[in-house]
Amino acid sequence: MKSLYYYNELVKRIDAFTSDVTAVYGTLLQCKEGCSECCILESVFPIEMVDILHWYSNQSPSVREAITNTKDNEYCIFLHEHTCRIYPYRPIICRTHGYPIMVNATIDVCPCNNGIQFATHHILNVEHCNSMLAGINLLFIKEVNIPLLQKERIDLRTFFQSSESDILSIVHSLKR
Ligand code: SF4
Ligand code: SF4
Repeated sequence: MKSLYYYNELVKRIDAFTSDVTAVYGTLLQCKEGCSECCILESVFPIEMVDILHWYSNQSPSVREAITNTKDNEYCIFLHEHTCRIYPYRPIICRTHGYPIMVNATIDVCPCNNGIQFATHHILNVEHCNSMLAGINLLFIKEVNIPLLQKERIDLRTFFQSSESDILSIVHSLKR
């Protein structure tokens, strides 16, 4: 699928950007494993579900059950003991969060990282990334014919409360 190719390219470019920022400001940045106050994700774009669903299909029944039965409504359903269960497969917003971003011509950064003087080329134009992601997602929706994924956004808590066989059948359809 063309959309998945473009999505993976976008992820690679964003990861390259954040690795560069980390290489320069790593000792100052407070984003570290175990810091999870920003893990309040509720929904993702349908295309971002592809990696997450493949991850889910490879998990043990106990992990799947833990995802379905997450009681804590305050935090993301993938947060477990302050770490991300899906870290390599996390959506784009989680890859950029904490890093300096330009929104509405203003620089935004996690308050924990306030005070760091970032060079202009180390500030991500997040609106540009979001429009690319939205366009790639539209292409994905056209390319797949899976009713549960034909939505603007997927609410994670609601989605993973669907029956396990429905979820696994989506994984099966995506592999075809
Ligand atoms: S997907 Fe992972 S990084 Fe993103 S909010 Fe959830 S736990 Fe945090
Ligand atoms: S964005 Fe802020 S809360 Fe999230 S990991 Fe980085 S420092 Fe911690």
